[in-house]
Amino acid sequence: MRILEILNESGLKFSAMSVSESASVILLTKPYSPYDVGQSKGKTNSGGGKKGGKKGASVSYEQTDSVLFVDAYYEASNALRKCAEQIVLQLNEAGISAKLARLDSYKPLAVYSGLASVGHNNLLFNKYYGSYFALQAVDVQVEIDHSLNEHMQLECFTCGKCSRACPFGALHSGELFVDSCLRKTQGSPKSTTINLLPHHRKVMGNKFLGCDICQSVCPKNAHIKPKQPTPEYKQLFNKQTFISALNSKDKDSLAPYEKYLGKNYLNKEWLKGLIGVSD
Ligand code: SF4
Ligand code: SF4
Repeated sequence: MRILEILNESGLKFSAMSVSESASVILLTKPYSPYDVGQSKGKTNSGGGKKGGKKGASVSYEQTDSVLFVDAYYEASNALRKCAEQIVLQLNEAGISAKLARLDSYKPLAVYSGLASVGHNNLLFNKYYGSYFALQAVDVQVEIDHSLNEHMQLECFTCGKCSRACPFGALHSGELFVDSCLRKTQGSPKSTTINLLPHHRKVMGNKFLGCDICQSVCPKNAHIKPKQPTPEYKQLFNKQTFISALNSKDKDSLAPYEKYLGKNYLNKEWLKGLIGVSD
């Protein structure tokens, strides 16, 4: 089947499932390694988990003035979207109607198709990438045999380390209380009001967007080694360089940052709020 050839040529792991006799959804994955941001253990919290109530060290990111960090997920997600657009183009050229899909949540499809399972930290896990992967869905107007999918699910230990490490007590007994989660508090470019308080900033340290503390402590991610930023990354996200780009009147000053943040996140006011600077 040409569709499987195109997907296999992409080198991406994927799963697919039919949603009708003539339509399917393909879930594409792209793995990534988190940046070596530096973490320190601090005060304890009493998060839940199977051993709910057991105290554990909470974690915060290093405080430095030199390089700022955005979660590496966004770069992977951005790159995956470009791969998916290329796959859609190839499928269309092969006479198969396809387009990028818009889904509110990938979880039900990812679980049902055998791509991943949901851990206690409410994230998807698969046996190759732990929870460090981006997902993109593609709609195709053709039926795909679900039984062709490789089983990639990875079951959570329910060890509770994620709950105990969360500095904001956002995880309890396998449930995410999203309003307490730091990533929710960081907001989005659509609502530029930032509600970050001093205790949030203390945990964020030099990481201005994203929080993967509940991933970094997870034993299912132990095989994923953090990476060092490239010279290009260090140059762009040097704190003073980044602030200059954010304060620049040039409307294209953030163009070099698109690769790391994604086009939709290039909102100067929101980003300034995240790193705590004004004009
Ligand atoms: S740390 Fe990982 S394995 Fe342990 S409960 Fe959390 S998600 Fe599951
Ligand atoms: S992303 Fe951070 S704040 Fe949110 S649940 Fe995980 S550790 Fe807690």
